[in-house]
Amino acid sequence: MDPFNQEELKMYFTENRLKSFEGWPFDEDCVCTPESMAKAGFIHTPSENSPDTAMCFFCLKELEGWEPEDDPEKEHKSHSPSCNFIALKKKVEELTVEEIFKLQKDRHKFLIKKSCNEAIVKFEETAKQTRTDIIKTAEGEE
Ligand SMILES: [Zn+2]
Repeated sequence: MDPFNQEELKMYFTENRLKSFEGWPFDEDCVCTPESMAKAGFIHTPSENSPDTAMCFFCLKELEGWEPEDDPEKEHKSHSPSCNFIALKKKVEELTVEEIFKLQKDRHKFLIKKSCNEAIVKFEETAKQTRTDIIKTAEGEE
């Protein structure tokens, strides 16, 4: 992995995250506008059943069920207190190469954690199904 790859760094910038918020259900007279959502690190990741799902590009925390008066930054901090991005005190443009490198390392930890959790869930589902199948077969042989 090249930590300074353009694609890798794209989502660090608010304007690139903002582009994902097309069709976001909250716009005028709301606290959680596309602008404030993007500023707080979120990208819009809607699905058929949840049109208001947003995910932090950094810690990958997904939040849905937004209310117009929700403050994206506060929600992000309270639901994902270990996110290094939302805790940043500087603007991305002001970070040093060293700081970006460190952030990218932290971000990859979140990515690895998420894919491991997904693999565990999948494994457990398969194990459960296999157990059911074995019991069925055993019962059928009695
Ligand atoms: Zn985050």
